[in-house]
Amino acid sequence: MAEKKCSFCGRPEKDVRLLLTGLNGYICDECAQQANKIILQSGVLKNDLSEENSLPDMKNVPKPKEIKAYLDEYIIGQDEAKRYLSVAVYNHYKRLQQPEEKDGVEIEKSNIIMVGSTGTGKTLMARTIARMLKVPFTIVDATVFTEAGYVGEDVESILSRLLQVADFDLAATERGIVFIDEIDKIARKSDNPSITRDVSGEGVQQGLLKLLEGTTVNVPPKGGRKHPDQDYIQVDTRNILFICGGAFDGIERKIAQRLNTHVVGYNSVQNVAKIDKDDLMKYILPQDLKSFGLIPEIIGRLPVLTYLNPLNREALRKILVEPKNSIVRQYEKLFEMDGIKLSFTNEALDYMVDKAVEYKLGARGLRSIVESVMMDAMFDIPSSKATNFEVDEDYTRKQLDKAHLQKLDSK
Ligand code: ADP
Repeated sequence: MAEKKCSFCGRPEKDVRLLLTGLNGYICDECAQQANKIILQSGVLKNDLSEENSLPDMKNVPKPKEIKAYLDEYIIGQDEAKRYLSVAVYNHYKRLQQPEEKDGVEIEKSNIIMVGSTGTGKTLMARTIARMLKVPFTIVDATVFTEAGYVGEDVESILSRLLQVADFDLAATERGIVFIDEIDKIARKSDNPSITRDVSGEGVQQGLLKLLEGTTVNVPPKGGRKHPDQDYIQVDTRNILFICGGAFDGIERKIAQRLNTHVVGYNSVQNVAKIDKDDLMKYILPQDLKSFGLIPEIIGRLPVLTYLNPLNREALRKILVEPKNSIVRQYEKLFEMDGIKLSFTNEALDYMVDKAVEYKLGARGLRSIVESVMMDAMFDIPSSKATNFEVDEDYTRKQLDKAHLQKLDSK
C-alpha cells in the first residue's frame, strides 16, 4: 500500500505528529489547526460557537460575593465600586445565559462607568475581573479615537484588539470585556451642543454608542483604518461588556452645584446636614456626567455608575504589602529566586509611603519608589554570598536621597 500522506500539505505520515483519516484522503494535525483558524476568522461558525460552546463556561460564573472576594485579594479598599462591579458583571453573564427571550423580558446590558482620579485602581479592577472570568480583555484609551474621516483610530479598532487578544476566536471575542480608559477626555467641551464640529468629542461619542449598545461591526482583523479591499470579520458586540473609566477632574464642583440647587425648600435643613462635603464623589449621579459633557445617549448605555476614592496614606501602606501580588511580595520573590530572603522593616515601609504621599506619586509611584530603593541591592546581592537582606529605614532614606525623586504634577 502506498504511504499515507496529508492530502493538504503532502507530508508523509512519518513527518507529522498526527494524521487523520477521511473517506478519500488524510489531514495532518498542522493542516487541521490551520483550517480551524481559517474557519474562525471567516466568521461562519459564529452562531454555533457563540451559542453552544461558550455557554457551558458561563454556567460557572461566580456569584457577586465570590467576585468581590476575589477582587479583595488584589485591590485595596474601593468597596462600593467592587460591589457595583461584581453585581454588574454577574448580571451581564446571567444575561448571556438567557436563550432567546421567551417571556418578553429581555435583560439589558449592564455596561459600567467608573469615576475616580488616576491611579486609584480602575484599570486594575477591570483587569482583575477579566482574569477571574478567563475572558479576553483589552484596554483602550478613548483619546486615540477620532470621528471617521479624521486622523486617528476608528472606534472599531477596539474590536480588532479584542480579536487579537482572543487569538481570533470569534466566540470568545464576543463575550469579552473592553476597558475604555479616559472616557472623560471625549466629553463635549460644554454642556451645550455646539454648531461647529467637535472632532475629538461628540463625534467619537456617537461612534461609541452603537458598540456599547450592541451591533454587528465589520472589523479589520489587523486594526487600523478601514480599507475597501480588506477582509473583515463580523463581530457582534451585544454580549461584550464595556467598562469605562475616567478621572472627570472637577466633577465634584458639578456635584456640589447640583446638591446646592436641590437643597432649597422643604426638607432642605436635614439634607444640608447630611452632605459630607469632603466626600462629594459618593453623591455622583448620571446627570453630573451630563454636566461634564457626556451625551445623554452614552450615559444611558452605561447604566452602572460607580466611583473610586482617592487613596490615602493608610490605603497606600496596605497596597504595598497586602494584595496577592503586592509590590513587596514581588520583590521578595525576585530575591527568593536567588536564594535570598528579603525583608522590610515596618519603618522602612512607612518611610516609602511617606515619600509617595509627599511627592504626590500615588499608588503608581510606590513601585518606582521601591525600585529606586532596591536598585543597588538587586545589582550587588546576586553575586554576593548573602542569604538574607533586610531593608530598614536608614537604608531606604539613603537610597531615596540618591534617587532624586521628582514631584509629579497632579495636573
Ligand atoms: P487607574 O486606572 O485608576 O488610573 P490603575 O488601576 O492603573 O489606576 O492603578 C495603577 C497601579 O496602582 C495599579 O497597577 C496598582 O499597582 C496600584 N493600585 C491602584 N489602586 C489600587 C488599589 N485600590 N489596590 C491595590 N493596588 C492599587
